[in-house]
Amino acid sequence: MAIEKTLLLIKPDAYRRRLTGLVIDRLEHSGFEMVGAKLVCVSEELARKHYEALKDQPFFENLIKYIRGEFHNVPNNKILALVYKGEDAISGIRKLVGKTNPEEADPETIRGSFGRITTAGQFENVIHASGNREDAEREVRLWFNDDEIIG
Ligand code: UDP
Ligand code: MG
Repeated sequence: MAIEKTLLLIKPDAYRRRLTGLVIDRLEHSGFEMVGAKLVCVSEELARKHYEALKDQPFFENLIKYIRGEFHNVPNNKILALVYKGEDAISGIRKLVGKTNPEEADPETIRGSFGRITTAGQFENVIHASGNREDAEREVRLWFNDDEIIG
């Protein structure tokens, strides 16, 4: 058991479909504490850094377009970035978020409830959440300054 912080991004499909409130409602009922929240303009550089571990994947270029809102007409590439904190928050939030593929995600989860796969084969899975402690530390630092975390 450890107190952890984890990064969440409300993805552009959720923004476009006005799911932000529903997703935050789920997070608020998770028992974890919101300690960071801001709208960020996702530059090409930030997107590539965030997903750098996936750069050799065949879906990488579409993933960069997706996270920058280019498939969903999001003004100024904006995204809502959040940090939640609590005991075992990384795995706890991942459980709430569900599997990467929204068709495989448990229907109780955020991705299972609201995600879909487009006819073009693109995963629209609503939310990003850090996968493990190393990713969480890196991602929180990448998206937030220390003084933007209000514990
Ligand atoms: N992704 C995709 N197709 C795949 C695998 C991943 O489009 O076959 C996208 C999807 O948006 C996913 C993101 O790439 O959320 C990051 O992939 P990762 O394996 O890290 O999944 P996550 O940690 O988001 O569950
Ligand atoms: Mg991941």
